[in-house]
Amino acid sequence: MRLSVECFIACRIFSISTAKPFKPNDMYTFILLAIAIPYTAMGSCPNINKRAEWGAQPAKSTLKLKINPAPYVVVHHSETPPCTDAGACKNRVKNIQSYHMNTKGWQDIGYNFLIGGDGSIFEGRGWGIHGAHLPSFNQRSIGICLIGSFQNNVPSSIQISALRSLISCGTDLGKIDQNYRLIGHRQGGSTDCPGNKLQEILKTMPHFEPRPVCTCPKIVSRSEWKAKAPTEIIPLTIDPPPYVVVHHSATQNCTNLTSCLKMVKGIQDFHMDTNEWDDIGYQFLIGTEGTIFEGRGWGRKGAHVPKFNARSIGVCLIGNFQIMPPVQIQLDSLKALTDCGVQNGKIAENYTIIGHRQGSATLCPGDYLYEIVQNMSRYNPNPS
Ligand SMILES: [Zn+2]
Ligand SMILES: [Zn+2]
Repeated sequence: MRLSVECFIACRIFSISTAKPFKPNDMYTFILLAIAIPYTAMGSCPNINKRAEWGAQPAKSTLKLKINPAPYVVVHHSETPPCTDAGACKNRVKNIQSYHMNTKGWQDIGYNFLIGGDGSIFEGRGWGIHGAHLPSFNQRSIGICLIGSFQNNVPSSIQISALRSLISCGTDLGKIDQNYRLIGHRQGGSTDCPGNKLQEILKTMPHFEPRPVCTCPKIVSRSEWKAKAPTEIIPLTIDPPPYVVVHHSATQNCTNLTSCLKMVKGIQDFHMDTNEWDDIGYQFLIGTEGTIFEGRGWGRKGAHVPKFNARSIGVCLIGNFQIMPPVQIQLDSLKALTDCGVQNGKIAENYTIIGHRQGSATLCPGDYLYEIVQNMSRYNPNPS
């Protein structure tokens, strides 16, 4: 690891010194690199300005990462002007902390680390600490903010090499998982962060995760389908729940948003008015054209199979799959929904999937759909 950091820096010097005639800017970069090399030669970690060194306010509270070493590295930009020397970068970090704590009311600066345009690294929350930079990843990632705005501007090469050496340092110290995945903030939330130019660079870096890791599918909310209010709300007993239970509605298909919406309302009416339940029974429903509807939603106890109601997410695919198979788009939505649940801590990471008939005497979710469920990688033949 140490070798690769040194090699990378050496390569940068080589390319800078041979690619084009020296300009003052290059000379500046060269000098900074020459300063950086002794640090990397001494150990695998670059110099990190500790909180005391940059004059951090004490954190109001700290929480440890839930998953440590962190399996993810999330990269951000500060969306501020860049900083190019030690004094300016230190001030920028202090200002970011003050914005996060005093304006946003957070417990501390949001990021685990920050990197200035001059390649200097600042300890934010530091290693092993729960951050505040990307909700679904805060408990299982190291969040690193590159100071500057990189939607149209490219970060300096020294800033990128500092990012690389900080990540290597984290893996060497056992603070970042050896098989970590690198993502930009935008892959886990609706934001431009870390900017187009920086995101392009991340794509070329080792361990970059090309898939959008936390993009949840669109879910039609209760208010959007004008659900009736529930008569009672009970949370799940085990949350995140370890089971996903698949159902079918045993009704006709619905072929467009309007007909699916009508179908969902009809199911709620039946469950509340005829069955006298608190609400529609399922946590989610999926239309025949793939649209996902919020039923009871995440975290709420359902009414779909007594033995599992308090520890599962019940998903109903609209249609009668005793007489015909579901369409692929409906199955894709089921997968996207369960992935989204896991990524957001709403379904247990090690969840298993079952069909309704495994918990009650019923044909649900129909022979065709049950056959498919049985071939899913998470299928559990012996739920208990
Ligand atoms: Zn960000
Ligand atoms: Zn069912």
